[in-house]
Amino acid sequence: MIEVTWGSASDRGRVRPVNEDSLLASPTLFVVADGMGGHAAGDVASQLAVDGLTQLLDSDPIGVPEVLEAIDEANLSIVNRAAASEERAGMGTTIAGVAVVEVGGIDHWMVFNMGDSRVYRMIDDELIQVTVDHSEAQEMVASGQLTLEEARTYRRRNVVTRSLGIDPPDAVDTWVFPPVPGERFLLCSDGLTTEVDEGAIRTFLERIDDPQEAAQVLVRAAIDAGGSDNVTVVVIDHRATDASDVDENTVPRRIGGA
Ligand code: MG
Repeated sequence: MIEVTWGSASDRGRVRPVNEDSLLASPTLFVVADGMGGHAAGDVASQLAVDGLTQLLDSDPIGVPEVLEAIDEANLSIVNRAAASEERAGMGTTIAGVAVVEVGGIDHWMVFNMGDSRVYRMIDDELIQVTVDHSEAQEMVASGQLTLEEARTYRRRNVVTRSLGIDPPDAVDTWVFPPVPGERFLLCSDGLTTEVDEGAIRTFLERIDDPQEAAQVLVRAAIDAGGSDNVTVVVIDHRATDASDVDENTVPRRIGGA
């Protein structure tokens, strides 16, 4: 059993008229979705994604196939809703999520994403980006045409290359790995990462123990830095437990090196 505490915050920022981001936070499933398609569309798409995934909470335990199925169904519900009204044509959404899934009878983390919302994991004050953005900017970083720093201010930085709301569906990326007590996850929409650099994000996450306070401070930092987009943050703490509770077989070991 993975014991977690968490906090979340979301704000429309200083420029956008509507908050098109949606989020879900529960003990076994956390999702951030950043909707696209303008007024009366983006917010609908991101909420449909979250609602679709919420159905996973009926499964106990959750398995990897169920997560993939729920993402497929959420995609279809957005496609169908978009087809039913002209003003919602072409709406879509990113998703970035963390679920507790059972693999071989043992709880694991499953991280998944489509688009440019992100999941980070912090262990021992080291912040690691788990997800890889599906965006034009990320593709240009990968091919050496942009540096990471340039990508943050790249003119077409909001162009995503995969999203929910597409028929046939785009592929979702997934990672499954064992839990480490004491670790912290950050889920965020690009409204955070375009305004606040990773060094500053790490510093906030190191200094602020309470996950709800950390989420609120990160959202506030994005707004103070310009708030050019909707910004959504979920912070999850996997509680450190007594060492005897740790299943030695699931703890990643450092192989070689110091
Ligand atoms: Mg955004």
